[in-house]
Amino acid sequence: MTAALQRVCVLGATGSVGMNTLDVISRHPGRFEVFALTAHSRVDELFAQCVKWRPRFAVLPDEATAAELRTRLKKEGVRTEVLSGAQALCDMASHPEVDSVMAAIVGAAGLAPCLAAARAGKRLLLANKEALVVGGALFMRAVHEGGASLLPIDSEHSAIFQCLPEDRTGWPSRIDHILLTSSGGPFRRRDPATMASITPDEACAHPNFAMGRKISVDSATMMNKALEVIEARWLFELLPEQIKVVIHPQQIVHSMVVCRDNSVLAQLGTPDMRVPIAYGLSFPERIESGASQLDFATLSALTFEAPDFQRYPGLALAWETLRSPEGSTTVLNAANETAVAAFLAGTIRFDQIHSVIAQALDAIDLRASGSDSLDALLEIDHRARRQAAQFVKGLAP
Ligand code: NDP
Ligand code: MG
Repeated sequence: MTAALQRVCVLGATGSVGMNTLDVISRHPGRFEVFALTAHSRVDELFAQCVKWRPRFAVLPDEATAAELRTRLKKEGVRTEVLSGAQALCDMASHPEVDSVMAAIVGAAGLAPCLAAARAGKRLLLANKEALVVGGALFMRAVHEGGASLLPIDSEHSAIFQCLPEDRTGWPSRIDHILLTSSGGPFRRRDPATMASITPDEACAHPNFAMGRKISVDSATMMNKALEVIEARWLFELLPEQIKVVIHPQQIVHSMVVCRDNSVLAQLGTPDMRVPIAYGLSFPERIESGASQLDFATLSALTFEAPDFQRYPGLALAWETLRSPEGSTTVLNAANETAVAAFLAGTIRFDQIHSVIAQALDAIDLRASGSDSLDALLEIDHRARRQAAQFVKGLAP
């Protein structure tokens, strides 16, 4: 039986997840059609992707770069329609001819198109974890009301998803907790006294994955795992105390479900994002992903240890913000994005990322804020960014 052609919109096509998505798609000619591709700054990469994939639409943030791309594509004889602006991202994500949306934009900027895809009832492949951290309740409501199929792409969440039965009726009562695994990042064994001198390039050199720079810094601070705890709370409807984290440097076990009877279900594989991407694209089927197979005969050891909350002070903020008023995770995300951008720009030190986030969480008063609309969440997000930027200014040398 041949699968029906799936028209795919890749939001954030020029990033690490976006490119891995196109790699998986390239292995299945006739099964997927690349309908729309979007980018932000890497215009040359988007141009090359348009020449190769001939999508119906491409999207860039501003009209000037979009016009430039239009001219270049025309010269090449490529008839892709180039759109610009934030609304165009939402229009593509909810386009009536699109079946599947890969949400691979980094940061809160991905929330609005994710909501559009959810409300339009798409198959939504979610890599953009920040969207759930910023607006989990609103997002999940949009998924349920729009009738969307939400497929986790973050490897840990894909692992949990793969461990659960296809029929989800009553499953939360069958599990005790989930265990999200973490590599511990590149500084698991680094002398804490030298954390202040970590450079952006050192922080971005992840031991097992080549990823975008923002998530690489998040992995080094373990804020990535904090964001993933919050992501899991929404994806799997769990209580904060039902989500635990364990360090597993080899990144072979991608996460685990501990059932009521203490049976443990795990998903294993080589660390390669193409596996969760292929599963998201083909669920409930399985298709070739391009990842290599695990060779158990040569695996020397799978080790596990508890996370060190002193080395990674940001990790505890996941549970703290989940137990705080709604909007706290929005502040957490905005402050983290601001602090990471400042670190990558050389304005603050690695060990100061946490203090910016902690100060912003202390400073923002959420009592008068709503969190039940995109506008309300964006208001909190902007306020937290302004506040965090002030703290960054205070720290800058
Ligand atoms: P990258 O930085 O590699 O790519 C991000 C993509 O988003 C790029 O296409 C970029 O465009 C685009 N983009 C950036 N800012 C904006 C904006 N303001 N508006 C619209 N588009 C924007 O990130 P990754 O691919 O590594 O990560 C993407 C998401 O997936 C993140 O949320 C991350 O946490 C998550 N994720 C990533 C994993 C990985 O292995 N990389 C693993 C699990 C989750 P351009 O390149 O043109 O600037
Ligand atoms: Mg992950």
